[in-house]
Parts: sequence; C-alpha cells; structure tokens
Amino acid sequence: MKITGVECTVLVVPDCDADACDSAQDTIVVQIHTDEGITGIGEVDSNPWVMKALIEAPGSHIMGLGLTELVLGQDPTQPAALWDRMYTFSAMTGRRGAGVCAMGAIDMAVWDIYGKATGRPVWQLLGGARQDSITPYASLLPSGRTLAEYKKSLLSKARWAKDYGFTAAKMEICINGPYSHNLIQEGDEAIVEIVAACRETVGPDMVMMVDVAYAWSNWKEALRTIRRLERYDIFFVETPLRSDDLDGYARLADATSVQVAAGEWLNGRFEFLDLMDRGHVDVVQPDVGRVGGLTEAMRVVELALDRGKTIVPHCWKTGIGVAATAHLAAASSNCRFIEFLPPSVANSALRRELVTEELQIENGKVALPQKPGLGIELNPDAFKRFGKAANAYAIARRNTMAPSLSLQN
Ligand SMILES: [Mg+2]
Repeated sequence: MKITGVECTVLVVPDCDADACDSAQDTIVVQIHTDEGITGIGEVDSNPWVMKALIEAPGSHIMGLGLTELVLGQDPTQPAALWDRMYTFSAMTGRRGAGVCAMGAIDMAVWDIYGKATGRPVWQLLGGARQDSITPYASLLPSGRTLAEYKKSLLSKARWAKDYGFTAAKMEICINGPYSHNLIQEGDEAIVEIVAACRETVGPDMVMMVDVAYAWSNWKEALRTIRRLERYDIFFVETPLRSDDLDGYARLADATSVQVAAGEWLNGRFEFLDLMDRGHVDVVQPDVGRVGGLTEAMRVVELALDRGKTIVPHCWKTGIGVAATAHLAAASSNCRFIEFLPPSVANSALRRELVTEELQIENGKVALPQKPGLGIELNPDAFKRFGKAANAYAIARRNTMAPSLSLQN
C-alpha cells in the first residue's frame, strides 16, 4: 500500500471567540489517502492555518523537506519508520514546536490507515491491551466573568459529573495568571476557597484534579497555595508554573505531597525527558497530536514507565483526538485516566458534531474500542459547515487583526 494524497482542512466553530481560553473552537483535519482506497484521519491541537502551511509547504533542500512530499509514495503500515523519515528530513524547520505538531496529525492518520488495513483497533497495533477498560475524567471548564458566577458554574458542573457516573473530575480554576486575562484576576485565597467548595460538593470518594493554567510566576508562590490544598486530597495540580521553568517544577514537586502534572504543550519525547528528569513532575500529560502523534506518545509512555511516572494524556479537541487518546490509554499500563467529556455537554460544536460513533461511558468506564483503526467517522455535513465557517472566520479576523486584545504577561 502507498500513500497517494494528503488533504488538510481547517475547521472553526461559527461562534469562535478569540478571547476565550478554549482550543476546541478550531481544528485541522488531515486525511491521508492510499492507493487501496483506505483513508486515515488525524488532527492536532495547534494553530490550524500554521499546521496546514507546514504540511503542504514544498521543501527546498534535504534538511528542510515538506511533510506531504515526505509521506507521498510511502507505506502507511510502517508508522514508526515514517515518523523517523519525517523527523530527519524536516529537521531544519521541524524537530520541535509546530513542526512536531504537524507530524503528529499525519502520524495519527497513518495509524488509522494501518488499523483499517489490518482490520484491528489501533491499540492492538501499539502493543496490545495493558488494561481492561479506560477510566475517563471529566474536564470541567466553568463560565462566568465574576468570581461568584465562575464558582457557581464550576460547582454545578461538578455535581453533574458526579451524577453522570464519573469517578474523577478536573476543576479548571483559571482565575490567576496570563490566561485568565479576560476573567476576574483573583488572588490565591479564591483558588483555595473554590477547591474547598468543590471537594465538599463531590464528596470524599471522587478523584479530584485541579488545573490552574500557569497561575504562578515562581515555585515559592505556587508552593504557598498548593500546601494549603494538600488537605483536600487533590490527585494532581496541573501546570502551576510556566512550561520552561523546569527547575521551578523540580523545587515545587520535591516540596509538596500533591502530585505535580504538566506536559500538555510539549513537543516530542526529548522535552518530556527534560520535564521528568530535570522537572521532577509526577504526572506527565502528553497530548497525542502535539507530542508528535501516537508513535511519539508511546515513546513517552515507555520513558515514563521506566521512571515510575503516571501518564494522564491531555486532550481538548474533537472526537478524532479523543479516539487517538483512548487507543494510547488502552496500550499503556501507566495511564490512569484520559481527559474525556461526553460530546453532548461540550461547549464546542466541533466537539459535539464532527465525529460520529463516539466512545460511551458506562459505570464510569469506557470500554476498549473494537473497530478497525481509530474507529471513528467524520460527519460530512458538520465537516462542510465548519469548513465554510473557517474561511469566513479567517477573512473577518484578518480584516480586524484583534485590536480588542490587551494581553499581559
Ligand atoms: Mg490544562
């Protein structure tokens, strides 16, 4: 079998709000076609226009070739070899950052083809089942522009998650730091107060994670508040510090009994090696697309396993990324939870509508997917609608170029 075409489509929700802290409002869908009529589907959580450019660009020399030209004519049933080929010959442009993200979308689609061609779910090809079922956690992103509204929204979502049967939930408490610019900028006291109220709402048995979205500028500041959270039995605190403050992560992780989690933005296994060995984080959170696809995510899983670290993948995208994450989890013995929200309750229309045949939660668990490949289908009507919305959005955005944003570091 040979790859005969790579098709990139940018999709955006019609009500996209660039002020929102929500990357599920857009995506790039990469469809890879073959001479046997099998098509694979992939996506990545990164700027979709940049991804499209990286995938479609022609190369001009052997150290900076384009990703499409590197995979055309290649055999999609050898994903790791194809990954190494892309990595080596796009290295001057790629190697880290957006280049690895773009490779991740292609790699995801290639694994989908490999599964479809062999009639097996991808987790079987990744090495087989390391667990009988997958445990999802609900990512609860509240709405509201005042602290009172925000807290009320989060508590009602927490109650919903418990009633739905989730055994774990992550409270997004993004009220401090650079990514809460449009919300209330509250002090650390408010974080403690919200965590206490969440614990009281969900009771003692539910696993509770807290995501503070890079709230603190140094580890001592973070430690002061995280120590106060220890009594609420938090499974982990996510991204307390900036991604590149690895020494800060190490000092923090060594000083608190709360597990420290990070890695959602990292690209490639070498960044995860640094995060674990220099940053001492307890829980690593590769995003399947951004880390470089399933090939590279599995390498991170193995590196984490050798170090006694837990994997809890990041996933805040459409049903494509969710499916890929479920296959990764099935094949990983150290993956405790996956980030999962039933599409019916998602804010993003892309998350709700793009993919049919989504995984179901029963008694707080997701059964291992059984269909060949990633096991998903695109909804053609939604695909068309969000494609049109993307074109309209890009034109409108270029015309205004965001004069309303007043960002602060
Ligand atoms: Mg996060």
